[in-house]
Amino acid sequence: MNISRTDLQAALERVVQIALDRNDHLPELPVVQMNQNTDQAETQLLTSRLPTTGQPLDKTFDQVFDSVLKEAPNANGPRFFGLITGGTTPASIVGDFLATLYDLNVALHLPKETNAVTIEQLALDMVLDLCQIPREAYPGKLLTTGATASNTMGMMIARQWVGKKRFNIDIAEDGFCGKVIKVIGGRAHSSVIKAVGVAGLGRGNYIDVSLDQRGYKWDLEKMETILKAQRNGDSEGSIVVVGCGEINTGGFTADIDKIRALCTQYDAWLHIDAAFGLYARAMPSHAAFAANIEMGDSMTSDAHKWLNVPYDCGLFYTKHIDMCSEVFGGAKSAYLDTGKTSIPQPLSVGIENSRRFRALPLYMSLLTYGAKGYQEIFESNCNFAVRLGEWIDQHPDLELLAPVYLHTVLFRVSAKPWAHPEGNDQFIEAIKGTEKAYVTKTVWDGQPAIRAAMSNWRTELDRDLPIVQQALEEALQSRTA
Ligand SMILES: *Cc1c(COP(=O)(O)O)cnc(C)c1O
Repeated sequence: MNISRTDLQAALERVVQIALDRNDHLPELPVVQMNQNTDQAETQLLTSRLPTTGQPLDKTFDQVFDSVLKEAPNANGPRFFGLITGGTTPASIVGDFLATLYDLNVALHLPKETNAVTIEQLALDMVLDLCQIPREAYPGKLLTTGATASNTMGMMIARQWVGKKRFNIDIAEDGFCGKVIKVIGGRAHSSVIKAVGVAGLGRGNYIDVSLDQRGYKWDLEKMETILKAQRNGDSEGSIVVVGCGEINTGGFTADIDKIRALCTQYDAWLHIDAAFGLYARAMPSHAAFAANIEMGDSMTSDAHKWLNVPYDCGLFYTKHIDMCSEVFGGAKSAYLDTGKTSIPQPLSVGIENSRRFRALPLYMSLLTYGAKGYQEIFESNCNFAVRLGEWIDQHPDLELLAPVYLHTVLFRVSAKPWAHPEGNDQFIEAIKGTEKAYVTKTVWDGQPAIRAAMSNWRTELDRDLPIVQQALEEALQSRTA
């Protein structure tokens, strides 16, 4: 069955219309519409059986639009502050459409055929430029599906390096040979712990040496004691993971230079998770928070968060691309062998073989906005967070739980009607129920709390702050004492 040109054109015109409508009206659309139906009722609207014969494209379009998209959360709108969501710049949306239209498989660097891999390297270098990190600090680089994948790569190559350096073993080839590799961190993001498990290091081997909830100060003496004992034996080594941007507060780990020195002294690998914190470096006002993040052996960041490109796009950087080749390039396959190239083959230095051309939206967005354009987005988001934080701090029924370091506001409801164990979650539901703002939950000081993270280029102080304040007031008033 062929889809006719006329039908394709009609569908594409609908897509263009949706793109323009969302561009014009995203700020006015409900941030989220809470579904009163149960999951089961929802599913009944969906076609669940594979049809034997197909149907016209416009019918499929209608079905999918009505059952999935019409009431979907407007997660790239300006008041969606859940997790760290990020929006989509128009340039990146166009780039993503184009990546789909050409559907290149960026598994191999074939410079005579396409410069897609070169563009990927350039985009990754431009992000370093944006963040005032010398390109030479991280000569090895690759796009991934997200910070979780980048953290996983980090743990996998760190493991390989520690195996070689400390025990002269090749873990990718021979396994752990009875050796144990600990992972030392401070309030590492849950995806790091996940990566530790996936890399076979054992989640139980994670040791937290932070002295506070935002992983700012570390017990460096304790860390050195662990590293020294390991060096005196011959069965244990270490990977150290620094978080650059704690998820609840946007707080940073201090003293990366001292941590680096200890890693160097004791042959430990330093991995830096800067999923969103990297971009502090693009703001003169905040750059000092993220000092020394060029000192990692490997570094993670995200583009689908604060760089405002569509999912999925993560960044991975390393000083040791040779470790990537050892881990990911070991299983040779004749039909994929293209010999030596100036840029390593993506499939030989990363997790995936087949890969989407996800560099294109990123590259197009970086060129279109430039360093100044991105700096403005970051500064505007941080300024919004500060102003929202001030307002919450002065509100009698709300409690600000930490200073606003970057673009995240951490708070809690303190008004009486919500003062019970489920109160925080119910208050979050009440905020979402206003359809004006979206926030998500966390735990702080062992108690339920609320995070609101600003990371969308569309968020505007003048328009959006009053709406968010109104949403919080409405939520508060939805329950009276
Ligand atoms: C979001 C985040 C991650 C995980 O990123 P994904 O893109 O969701 O895989 C890891 N580390 C930190 C600090 C994050 O903020």
